[in-house]
Amino acid sequence: MRIVVLVKEVPDTYGDRKLDLETGLADRAASETVLDEIGERALEVALSYADAHAGTEVVVLSMSPESAAATVRKGLAMGAASAVQVVDERLAGADLGLTAEVLAAAAKRTGFDLILAGNGSTDGVGGVIPAMVAEILDLPHATNLNSVELTDTSVSGERATDGGTMRVKASLPAVVSITERLPDARFPNFKGIMAAKKKPFETLSLGDLEIDADDPAAARSIMIQVSEKPPRAAGVKIVDEGDAGEQLAEFLIQNRLA
Ligand SMILES: Cc1cc2nc3c(=O)[nH]c(=O)nc-3n(C[C@H](O)[C@H](O)[C@H](O)COP(=O)(O)OP(=O)(O)OC[C@H]3O[C@@H](n4cnc5c(N)ncnc54)[C@H](O)[C@@H]3O)c2cc1C
Repeated sequence: MRIVVLVKEVPDTYGDRKLDLETGLADRAASETVLDEIGERALEVALSYADAHAGTEVVVLSMSPESAAATVRKGLAMGAASAVQVVDERLAGADLGLTAEVLAAAAKRTGFDLILAGNGSTDGVGGVIPAMVAEILDLPHATNLNSVELTDTSVSGERATDGGTMRVKASLPAVVSITERLPDARFPNFKGIMAAKKKPFETLSLGDLEIDADDPAAARSIMIQVSEKPPRAAGVKIVDEGDAGEQLAEFLIQNRLA
């Protein structure tokens, strides 16, 4: 069984995240970059299965700037057998459609029984890449799973809905996205970090995937305006002089919070 895990490099949520107001892209120089935590959790699902099932191969796949190679390598240090990174300057500012096209083509080239992804990245938060990849590859997709059970031929799991819990199942090959309900990822240990240096790491370009990022016939989203979030205004401070409860109720009513 070969499991391809989609991992994205994102600005660290613990630091200040900034937009480049000229390009509308994340300002990668303004903060530390890390492997997205939800992608790490997806990788943990794959690695746990591989630990228990000999013959399982886990591959991490990322479309990211060249500088993200070290971040992608963390997936190898955690235990993935190999990595594939799609690097091409023409992908800077890629929209969801182009990203899905690229990831689907790279996964197809690599070969897989299952594609595992996060349900939404912490920076873009588009939340649709896994479903789009499945559509492009004409495969079943089970998204937003809170649990994953994998066999040689199928994948199943639970998805929370407003009204309860839905149990879904798909035969392989399939695409699955997981939520933060899945366990935290393991930390890479020293042995893993050393081993990662020798593991296969393939770098692909758009040419290798025969994709034209500027294809005029393809539907692409374009950014027409970008602006920074307004700074947060100071909150209202209620001083209790015997009427704090009334003031609080008044505040909630005025702000339609009650
Ligand atoms: C040169 C370059 C610069 C880029 N700059 C930016 C940027 O400034 N801001 C930005 O948000 N994105 C950037 N990207 C990445 C790309 O444009 C986004 O990944 C894409 O639009 C997906 O959006 P999302 O994160 O909202 O997807 P979501 O649908 O929220 O992602 C869901 C899941 O899909 C998978 N996934 C999503 N994107 C990728 C990816 N790129 N590689 C592997 N798995 C993925 C992950 O498992 C993720 O958890 C850049 C890429 C390149 C090559």
